[in-house]
Amino acid sequence: MINASITNTLNPNALNCESKNTWRDCEKDIAPGTLPAASGFQEAPTLSEINARDAARQNMIAAFERPAKAHDELMRAALEKTEDTALKAAYLTAFEGKRLSGEQGQKLLDAGDVNVLGWLATRAKERFHPGGKVSFLIDRNINYTNICRIGCDFCAFYRRGPETDAYVLPKEEIFKKIEETIELGGTGTLMQGGVNPHLKIEYYEDLFRSIKQRYKIHLHALSVIEIEGIAQVSRLTVEETLQRLKAAGLDSIPGAGAEILSDEIRLEQSPVKRHSHRWIKVMQEAHKANLPTTATMMFGALEERKHIIEHILRIRDAQDETQGFYAFILWTFQGENTELAKKNPDMQPTSGVEYLRVLAVSRLMMDNIPNIQGSWVTMGPKIGQISLHYGANDMGSIMIEENVVSAAGTSYTLDRKNMIELIRRSGFTPVQRDTYYNIIAEYPEFPAQ
Ligand code: SF4
Repeated sequence: MINASITNTLNPNALNCESKNTWRDCEKDIAPGTLPAASGFQEAPTLSEINARDAARQNMIAAFERPAKAHDELMRAALEKTEDTALKAAYLTAFEGKRLSGEQGQKLLDAGDVNVLGWLATRAKERFHPGGKVSFLIDRNINYTNICRIGCDFCAFYRRGPETDAYVLPKEEIFKKIEETIELGGTGTLMQGGVNPHLKIEYYEDLFRSIKQRYKIHLHALSVIEIEGIAQVSRLTVEETLQRLKAAGLDSIPGAGAEILSDEIRLEQSPVKRHSHRWIKVMQEAHKANLPTTATMMFGALEERKHIIEHILRIRDAQDETQGFYAFILWTFQGENTELAKKNPDMQPTSGVEYLRVLAVSRLMMDNIPNIQGSWVTMGPKIGQISLHYGANDMGSIMIEENVVSAAGTSYTLDRKNMIELIRRSGFTPVQRDTYYNIIAEYPEFPAQ
């Protein structure tokens, strides 16, 4: 109707246009040359043209789906015949679970075609996770203190103590955050802070016991350096510290603080944490104390690719011994507000392609850890979706609260509904999990509003 009235205003010859399908049907009645054509003007399609185009699109989708299987077969045939020894080894990893050597991993990382790596990593992922499900977690990061005596150059979160924004959260505030998490359907809390020299083990025992007495919630808390710090100020061994924390309610330990497990890189990033073997040792002590942990890697901060391979191998070897890592989580360095970025102004942020390459090689090499997370928190939701086609089987937490990465200038958030949609639109079935990766809800269809 609007089109018709406009037409009538412009050209009295074009009457009764309501009965026509489109502006263009209507226009056919107008004498040629009566309307001026703007430069670049394109005629709107007729309904029959739209229908024909949609049919062509449907055919195109079907045509893509049909060859997906054929594409897999072509890839397999090509890889079976390849003379590239690293690629052939990766093929055997993906389909037969054969272990990749560090040298082969290095070759793949340096020269592997990123799309082929993604395809192989997806096949390797399917060995652990058949069925096209992708998990996510609802939990909350609670940073109980930002006071830290370590002072890592890559960290924008910590305060030394006298600053006005230095804090230790009161217990009531921590309880309130946990209650909000439970109301949102959360099953756990990730509690981490700085290495605060004023907090001894009694503080943590009291806090953990109080939480466990009040709430049925998983307590995933404290990094290696915090545990070492607690042991030091409390004059305890790491073993004693872990046992007392576990008795007070600690369920599992996040793998934070691994950064890159290569002493020469750690020396530049954070001299106090320079000894890689200490991170491994504390993690293995936790495993022996029946405290499962995750393992992490932060890359894109001065290291070379050989250091990434060194890191993967160290964690893989440790896992062979104690079997306590249940997930590997890798993310990229976020530089804003950090000393490291100020000291290295030429340092470039890691590209999406490099992130995907490292992710795919990690999935192929890390043959003894079942779960790998895609990092939408640092790379953004869209790269997060693509990561599911490069070896990741999990999207981590929806991040009800996040303070550490956002302090370094990167802030993405998702709610449960958006997370579900994000996973579904990547071609997978979303499932909510708990901290141990037990599935607690499945979302094959869009949830009711
Ligand atoms: S990364 Fe952890 S240990 Fe290092 S300065 Fe930040 S809060 Fe402290």
